[in-house]
Amino acid sequence: MECVICKIGNTQPGKTTYSIVKNNRIIVIKDVDADICENCGEAYFSVETSKWLSQKVEEALQRPSSEEVKQG
Ligand SMILES: [Zn+2]
Repeated sequence: MECVICKIGNTQPGKTTYSIVKNNRIIVIKDVDADICENCGEAYFSVETSKWLSQKVEEALQRPSSEEVKQG
């Protein structure tokens, strides 16, 4: 589909890294399926992927932040 951000590129299926700042935390989810604009790199998520992402973000917020994780 045509990219609505730059209106030049077309999107291609690919993987992207999704990040969001929530509750003063940065949640990063890697290798997310998305349609990515070949021109500006804007990523578009399907409805299913958006639901999955919001679920993963909520799960991540339940866990202690990386600073609190102890090794071993
Ligand atoms: Zn674009």
